[in-house]
Amino acid sequence: TKRSGRNGYNFFEPSMNANAHNQLQWLQDLRVALERGQFRLVYQPKFMSPDGPVIGAEALLRWQHPVHGMVGPDDFIALAERSGLIIPIGAWVLDEACRQMREWLTLGYQDWKIAVNLSALQFNDPQLLDVVQAVLEKHQLPPHCLTLEVTESTAMYDTASSMQTLQKIADLGVDISIDDFGTGYSSLLYLKRLPANELKIDRGFVRDLSAGTEDAAIVSAIVALGRTLNLRIVAEGVETEVQQAFLTSVGCDALQGYLMGRPVPPEQFLQAIQPQQPT
Ligand code: C2E
Ligand code: CA
Ligand code: CA
Ligand code: CA
Repeated sequence: TKRSGRNGYNFFEPSMNANAHNQLQWLQDLRVALERGQFRLVYQPKFMSPDGPVIGAEALLRWQHPVHGMVGPDDFIALAERSGLIIPIGAWVLDEACRQMREWLTLGYQDWKIAVNLSALQFNDPQLLDVVQAVLEKHQLPPHCLTLEVTESTAMYDTASSMQTLQKIADLGVDISIDDFGTGYSSLLYLKRLPANELKIDRGFVRDLSAGTEDAAIVSAIVALGRTLNLRIVAEGVETEVQQAFLTSVGCDALQGYLMGRPVPPEQFLQAIQPQQPT
């Protein structure tokens, strides 16, 4: 939603502008954040519905800023993209998420997939294939344990070469997920051109979801479309029992949201997904 303008990005983030730190300072801070180890990943579980097992987790980036505390991705990803820093930061995310998945795999969670969000710029980088291959090898991770979530805004960079890169990554056996489905640019064209395995229904359609609403009709149609195309359908942003019941009834394959589990640091993840024990 913050993406607009000629190259697809705003020139400042309002939330950043609002405080004393100026843009240049944020950029300088971002430049050193990686080497100073200020990035963290939190993990949100994906559940097979209804009330089914965990099928994996999505890695979500956080920046532990020395002055401003924990900063969310919506407040710095655009800056990272504009400055090109998203390439090394994205590589760090991929490495760290795969390292964590390796740990879970070793503990016996064989069927889990780790989902990593991919910026449009990474997707456009011809080296991405090598980066992905190297990270899988480094952590001895089977490709099917990795899912790359791409957003439809990526279609702005929809060149033949970036589609080829994604196709080659898919050919390795890595899953490709279309994130925020229904919100972006040329959704259906994108669906046709991407080697996707998964489709994530955007939170915007889930927020006010209940039977008989317009959102309900849209969600049902997306699920039907996904089924026809043989895609795993994930609903994100599930916060209420009503939403969960509806999504399950129309045949969503997996659910993700605060109702089932919030993003947590890795050391809390296994405990967080345990069913609540009576005290
Ligand atoms: P996204 O990929 O659509 O991720 C879902 C966002 O919704 C996350 O916000 C998550 O914390 C939040 N969320 C999950 N469940 C619920 C719910 O039930 N209710 C509500 N209200 N929110 C929920 P977060 O972590 O702030 O991430 C925001 C966006 O930043 C992500 O949207 C993704 O596009 C981007 N992002 C996150 N991590 C990375 C990363 O490592 N690389 C890149 N390039 N982008 C990232
Ligand atoms: Ca995502
Ligand atoms: Ca999403
Ligand atoms: Ca989003």
